[in-house]
Amino acid sequence: MPSEIVTCGSCGTANRVAPSASGAPHCAKCNAVLPWLVDVHDDLFTTVIGESTLPVLIDLWAPWCPPCCIVGPLVEASATRFAGRLKVA
Ligand SMILES: [Zn+2]
Repeated sequence: MPSEIVTCGSCGTANRVAPSASGAPHCAKCNAVLPWLVDVHDDLFTTVIGESTLPVLIDLWAPWCPPCCIVGPLVEASATRFAGRLKVA
């Protein structure tokens, strides 16, 4: 399962964040909660979504869809705004 590198908004440390874990990801250096934005496909859907202990906002989108491209950045920003309380997939 590939991990994402997320930069901590508090201290700037790069953290490796797994797509699935219990609770919410935290910075290894300062313990600040990190945004959780996961790119998920069919093979990992059950693990990433079904095993989450946080509410999950799922954005099903296509790159050829203009409304999807407008909404996408707002959905991604919600991962930062609600860090520790929401997982965005
Ligand atoms: Zn930090």
